[in-house]
Amino acid sequence: MFTIYEARKIITMNPSRPYATHVAVQDGRILGAGDLAELTGWGAHTLDRRFANKVLMPGLVEGHSHVMEGVFWRYVYCGYFDRMAPDGTDWPGLKSIDDVLARLRDAEVKLGDTKAPLAGWGLDPIYFSTGRVSRQDLDRVSTTRPIGVLHASAHILNVNTKALELAGLLRPGVNHPGVPLGPDGLPTGELKGPDAMMPVGSHVGFDRETLAGDEKGFRDFARLCVRKGVTTAADLANLLPDKAVEMMLRVTGEPMFPARIVSLRRHQGLPIPELIARVRELAAKSTDRLRLGIIKIVADGSIQGFSARLRWPGYYNGAPNGLWYVPPEQLREAYKLALRDGVQIHTHTNGDEATELVLDCIEEALRAHPSPDHRFTFQHCQLGDAAQFRRMKALGCCVNLFPNHHFYWGDQHYALTVGPERAERMNACATALATGVPMAIHSDAPVTPLGPLFTAWCAVNRQTASGRTLGASERISVADALRTITLGAAYTLKLDGEVGSIECGKRADIAVLEDDPETIGGDKLKDVRIWGTIHGGRVFSAADA
Ligand SMILES: [Zn+2]
Repeated sequence: MFTIYEARKIITMNPSRPYATHVAVQDGRILGAGDLAELTGWGAHTLDRRFANKVLMPGLVEGHSHVMEGVFWRYVYCGYFDRMAPDGTDWPGLKSIDDVLARLRDAEVKLGDTKAPLAGWGLDPIYFSTGRVSRQDLDRVSTTRPIGVLHASAHILNVNTKALELAGLLRPGVNHPGVPLGPDGLPTGELKGPDAMMPVGSHVGFDRETLAGDEKGFRDFARLCVRKGVTTAADLANLLPDKAVEMMLRVTGEPMFPARIVSLRRHQGLPIPELIARVRELAAKSTDRLRLGIIKIVADGSIQGFSARLRWPGYYNGAPNGLWYVPPEQLREAYKLALRDGVQIHTHTNGDEATELVLDCIEEALRAHPSPDHRFTFQHCQLGDAAQFRRMKALGCCVNLFPNHHFYWGDQHYALTVGPERAERMNACATALATGVPMAIHSDAPVTPLGPLFTAWCAVNRQTASGRTLGASERISVADALRTITLGAAYTLKLDGEVGSIECGKRADIAVLEDDPETIGGDKLKDVRIWGTIHGGRVFSAADA
């Protein structure tokens, strides 16, 4: 016995049979997609007509997010834009530093007499007149309780004086490129990059090892996935300590867990040979709904935080060049050993100097260990230029671009960070596709909200928050965008043989939509209403998520 679902339209992404009206599901897999008469040929079945008025497409694949988004919603949302929490609540964006401090003060009062730190996230000082936030600003919320507010980029942490004191950093003579000093010779409270953030992070609720094991946050992230039509999500930079892995295996193994999580081990805290060994050990623990065994390396910082590494002529507003997160020798060693052992690496590069360095290192590693189909993937790669995409193609690399940036920071990129010309080439989706580089697009949630159809809208329209079209010639078609948020992202995770299309033999992972993304119009793609998902043949409605 199997189930046949009837739909208004099924977009399959199967090139041999792009559309269907019915899909048959058995044992969590797709028995077939076609019309009713064809599918009844498989034998005894139940016809389920509940989606007869809906449009089905392959379950959406988010190729770069962080399950930590689920945890962050228990902290204070301090972002500039309105945003929806996993429980469906809409949080209004905060338009000034005073608004941010007021919301933090409300939350501080609720903490009462406890010694608990106050943590916030989503901060975006580039939108404020001062351009930055200092410890003195946060001291206006409390001088006795440690406070930390993570930037939207997640690459910079602002803390108050108390937090610096607890971390032993409230002293003169601190000499670190990620710890700017004020006129008084003391740190300003802005901490850039993981090295600078880590020692203070644990005092303000941002201890990555602890957050990795947060079960409620993990579950909340999966709820968001259902609301957004996502059936597979990459969790791109997890430290994956044993306790967290045990939790993730247990929770994803529950009969009604609604998503497949691909969790990458972030390069941090282990020498490269040990990192490779650890990741191979993790790979052996993979299950259907928890995939392990890929490495994530972060090469530089963020463009809007001016911590990305840019080639000449650098930042448009004259800001000094950004930070290297990993020394080049380590990059070289990582790619060589990973290719030797058949381990995949995804590398974050934002600035074009970082992309160039990583291309050089991968090319050198490939000479030592020629590897067909390694699918090493550039993540963000926002400033990649046409020549760099040609090198990616030649080296067999994939790219996962970040078009959401055009909406959230496009105006700032044009006016401040990289200037008009390079802002128009950012996230050059059309060039990547024309060059033949396998491409995904992503939200980097919690950096921007999870929602592949919104990301697809960004790639199709390249519209900024103020309404400017940024780089009209890099816009892509709706068809390309839809392929990119399904098969495209699945390919970068080496899952395209299992998910990303609705065809015989694949996992029964389906996004259930109220509207047809192919006919609603490219300018309305973000407004497509999502009913829910089918994951491995199990049905999840967003209303119940
Ligand atoms: Zn990320």
